[in-house]
Amino acid sequence: MRQLLQGVRAFHEAVRSDESLRGSYQRLAAGQRPDTLYVGCSDSRVVPHLLSTAEPGDLFVVRNVGNMIPPASARGVSIGDRSEAAVLEYAILHLKVRDVVLCGHSSCGAMAALHDGIDGATNPNLAEWLRLGMPALDEACFPPSVGEERTPRDATSQRNVLQQLRHVRTYPFVAEALDAGRLRLHGWWFDIEEPVVRAFHESSQRFLPIELAYAQSDFG
Ligand SMILES: [Zn+2]
Repeated sequence: MRQLLQGVRAFHEAVRSDESLRGSYQRLAAGQRPDTLYVGCSDSRVVPHLLSTAEPGDLFVVRNVGNMIPPASARGVSIGDRSEAAVLEYAILHLKVRDVVLCGHSSCGAMAALHDGIDGATNPNLAEWLRLGMPALDEACFPPSVGEERTPRDATSQRNVLQQLRHVRTYPFVAEALDAGRLRLHGWWFDIEEPVVRAFHESSQRFLPIELAYAQSDFG
């Protein structure tokens, strides 16, 4: 906590001494217009604004244990916690973001618990939440190249990114936006040790470093 408070004091000091920083926050006070929704893990090592050098106002963010999105029921509402579905609705229908990035990462504690199992008696909420990732344990439901050359836990983590994107697509307003070309979905995976951000590349069915994954795209 001491480090956190020192950090806030340092931020206040920076704002006081930097007129352009003050100005940028005054502009942000008028409203936000992020063009991307980032869905990531709560892990303290995976900081979306650092790994993308993003600024305040650039990203709309939801982070939770294991970067999960509960899927929609036949009625189009979340079968689990409503928080993630509410974020999707707000970002896509109101902020009108063009892109949704869902990012997993290496040595993820949630994926370790999913892979190795967890005691539901002492962790009832966590155990229930992790059930959202269970399809990622079934290798047969994913391209065989996903997770290749990774540890079993990291392979599960990469498959979980694709599984959670499948959950995102179950929401009718997402499917509609995708069909209309108003929205794009991206599966990312952050390798902490390298450290490199990879993206799922449809043609090769692998997670490639961002530079390679988007080389042939409009974003390249
Ligand atoms: Zn994690």
